[in-house]
Amino acid sequence: MTEEKYQEIAPLLELLHSNGRSYDYEKIKSAFLYAKELHEGQMRLSGEPYIMHPISVAEIVANLGLDTDSVCAAFLHDTVEDCPDKTNLDEITRLFGSDVALLVDGVTKIKSINVEEKEEAQIESIRKMLLAMSKDIRVIFIKLCDRVHNMRTLYVKKDAKRRATALETMHVYAPLAHRLGMQKIKQELETYALQYLDPIGYNEIKAHIEEKYGRNVNFIETIKANVKEELEKINISFTLGGRVKTVYSVYRKMYNQNKTFDEIYDFYALRIIVNTELECYTVLGLIHELYKSVPGRFKDYISTPKPNMYQSLHTTVIGKDGIPFEVQIRTKEMHQVAEYGIAAHWKYKSGEKSSADIDTKLDWISKLIATEEEAIDPEDFMHAFKIDIFHDETFVFTPKGDVIALPLGSTLIDFAYKIHTGVGNKMIGGKINGRIAPIDSVPQNGNIVEIITSNASKGPSRDWLNIVKTGEARNKIRQWFKKEKRAENIVVGKSLVDKEFLHMRSTCSDDEKNSIVASVAKRIGMMDADDLYNALGYGGISISKIDKKIRDEYEKTVKTKDNKEAPSVQLEPTITPTTKKKHKSSGGVIVDGEEGCVVKFAKCCNPLPGEDIVGFITKGYGISIHKIDCPNVQSAFSNDEYVSRFVKAEWDTPSNNSYRSSYESSLQILVTNRISILADISTALAEMKIDIVSINTKNVEDTTLFNMTISCRDISHFNSIISRLRSIKDVIRVTRAMGTR
Ligand code: MN
Repeated sequence: MTEEKYQEIAPLLELLHSNGRSYDYEKIKSAFLYAKELHEGQMRLSGEPYIMHPISVAEIVANLGLDTDSVCAAFLHDTVEDCPDKTNLDEITRLFGSDVALLVDGVTKIKSINVEEKEEAQIESIRKMLLAMSKDIRVIFIKLCDRVHNMRTLYVKKDAKRRATALETMHVYAPLAHRLGMQKIKQELETYALQYLDPIGYNEIKAHIEEKYGRNVNFIETIKANVKEELEKINISFTLGGRVKTVYSVYRKMYNQNKTFDEIYDFYALRIIVNTELECYTVLGLIHELYKSVPGRFKDYISTPKPNMYQSLHTTVIGKDGIPFEVQIRTKEMHQVAEYGIAAHWKYKSGEKSSADIDTKLDWISKLIATEEEAIDPEDFMHAFKIDIFHDETFVFTPKGDVIALPLGSTLIDFAYKIHTGVGNKMIGGKINGRIAPIDSVPQNGNIVEIITSNASKGPSRDWLNIVKTGEARNKIRQWFKKEKRAENIVVGKSLVDKEFLHMRSTCSDDEKNSIVASVAKRIGMMDADDLYNALGYGGISISKIDKKIRDEYEKTVKTKDNKEAPSVQLEPTITPTTKKKHKSSGGVIVDGEEGCVVKFAKCCNPLPGEDIVGFITKGYGISIHKIDCPNVQSAFSNDEYVSRFVKAEWDTPSNNSYRSSYESSLQILVTNRISILADISTALAEMKIDIVSINTKNVEDTTLFNMTISCRDISHFNSIISRLRSIKDVIRVTRAMGTR
């Protein structure tokens, strides 16, 4: 006999005992007592004690064959949310272990997502997000059981609430149950949902069914017995199954295919699974001998499969009392496709194409459930469910509540480009759950992500190419550079090509180089040399893809040239390396081509050791050294008069005495206003032993822009300073300032 205090769960305990598996009964009992104590005094709308709900959910969970921890979590699933002053996850972990706590937490989190009023297009994403958020698939099972009981008792709720819950059940939970192979749960959810969504339609069909089939409660069982007897006579092995259509599936068939109730011939259906295709036809003949067939209702999907690969023979025949029923005959293989290939069907309906992965995984679970009967220990069995279905995707919300799926590890920049190219290009910062976050932050499942844009934004930065995770964002950033920065890209591209010529110790003139590059461009399907330079500049093509072709073309050119004439003399200094000796280094830079000149670093771009540089012969002020991608260089390049005044320049090695230990560089820091933010920035710089040469500030609404000049060793030192600054709280972005003067 069950003790008095466990009287309420006596049916549940009996159910567990009867299914012949091992459970931790003490744990289950104490979870029940704990939940009862926590919910003490709480009532459901129906007037019954609240604990009746968790008990019912636990029974449904136990009926599914789930394990001890799932049953415990079912008892506790509403406690953390509904009794926050009496318990919490830590307490549940302490009492029942981390697995139970994880399950309770998962079910609670799902509850906080409002999926009731979403548009159709969002629903598939929401289903996926629910799966993604519940790291353990048992969370979804418990949630489905919770929903089943909520639907059973939905009548107590107000009308508007009923409708919203029914809609959510129909659109989100019933399809999830279907995907997980939980047919009974799916059917129960659909039946209740339909009762609230279209009570008139539901009652009408229910009445029709009772009127037409009500007197034949055991119809399908009788038919099965008859057919079994006949099939055994012809000596082939077979499996026999039967089903009765639910009110909802009749409803759907009537509305989707515009049929009347009397045109539904498959209210009853019998399924016969055999071994070979030939046997399918043999069995078909037998069925037609046994029963009178309905003309025009025979379909041979074996010789002509449906587009979704479905194969089967269908025929409708008339049984006892003139009741029609459908017979489906197929082989085991065809049955597999019919059962598990439904994945494709589901995707097709929701317009989803790229989620083959989830289908594979869910099908696997659904297969596990199908074989679950075979006395596997539930603890082992459930262990298999602790899988991460979307190990490669993250689901986040927009401020409007739309769900966006991103590859795992995606940053705010990826999110911005996913929303819209324009959003990405004008992005200046972002927020996660309402708090400012660095643009390279990685949002987590369920986060609300917001992008801050500004029309004053100068567009993406080249560093973003190294930060973003998705190809989509990378492509869009490249596209921007391709379109907006063609002139700059060409200079960058030329410098890359020049390095190649340097490696080849080329003596080509500018024109020769251009014609070599132009030939290469044509070979790879581009218009001219500038197009190729541009592509190299924005990263659309990498130099390693074309260096061999450049060599090829170069060798051809050189050979022709050697045969014709002596090597041409270079008339103009260019950034091409010359054969002249290298000149003395000054300020840590070695300049080719000009002797004894003074070098100064251009203020517009403040080049740093490690970066590609070029010298420009000024009138009377020596040679100024620019970064090769400095905007001023780029504009000078388009001017014929200036182009000849560029000279090759490169950094000296640090060991030479001309090498300086520090160089100036400018950066811009955009921050959210906060009292001690400047102190935080200068402390960070001081810790890194960085001198601030100058600083000025500009306020824009609730942000401040710092323009700062600092001294540093080289480009990698500079980059490390930037990343340190980016990690400071409330810093929106840090970029290198260039080309402003
Ligand atoms: Mn509940």
